[in-house]
Amino acid sequence: MSSKRLVEVVCSKCGEQSEFMYWDSINVTVDPELRIEFFNHKINHFDCSHCGNKGLVFEDFIYHDMDSRFIISLLSSDNKDYLEKSKQSLSESISIMQETVNMDGFTTEYKFRIVFNLNQLTEKVNIFESNLDDKIIEILKLFIFRDFVDSKEEIIPEIFFVDILETNEIEFIVLTGGEGNYGVTLKLDTYKNIENQIHNGAFTKLYALNEWEVVDRDFVVDRLN
Ligand SMILES: [Zn+2]
Repeated sequence: MSSKRLVEVVCSKCGEQSEFMYWDSINVTVDPELRIEFFNHKINHFDCSHCGNKGLVFEDFIYHDMDSRFIISLLSSDNKDYLEKSKQSLSESISIMQETVNMDGFTTEYKFRIVFNLNQLTEKVNIFESNLDDKIIEILKLFIFRDFVDSKEEIIPEIFFVDILETNEIEFIVLTGGEGNYGVTLKLDTYKNIENQIHNGAFTKLYALNEWEVVDRDFVVDRLN
């Protein structure tokens, strides 16, 4: 179910107050038009009616896709206590959903993820809609990260999955801040190779739990060593 509420927003530019419909959660299977709005940057993006200033209203937000079987929770803070508290309340709400909704394979097949910004959220949606495993994608990103840091030590890049290309390559974008952005591709075979290793019992630490997880670089680095 999608849910929204009316909030008061004070414009950061002109200081005027406007009313704004904030989406706490969207279910893109029940409301497919909200998926389109999400990708068109309409969800929780605010236009000031007084001065035209645009901004993002950044509070906790949930993106749920029942067809691709994932729920992503965008948290407005990465504070450790807040993260733990949120994990707990998210798990509780999942238990309630399990009891009230008959969803086949709800706990075993679903992916539950926590992210902290819109880029991370969009990336997760892209990965799961492409039927890819975000943990394998994080391993691939680690290869790119290490190559990049070896050659340009002073830059800590941000790397995001973009798409699978018709050339059977996976496209990533590397954001470096001041140094510009780079497109990087890796062979889909590299992904499949890791996937086969996982089927044969490798990297079990990555799949030890099925709960709300922050799957990022630290997640794979902690579990590969
Ligand atoms: Zn304004």
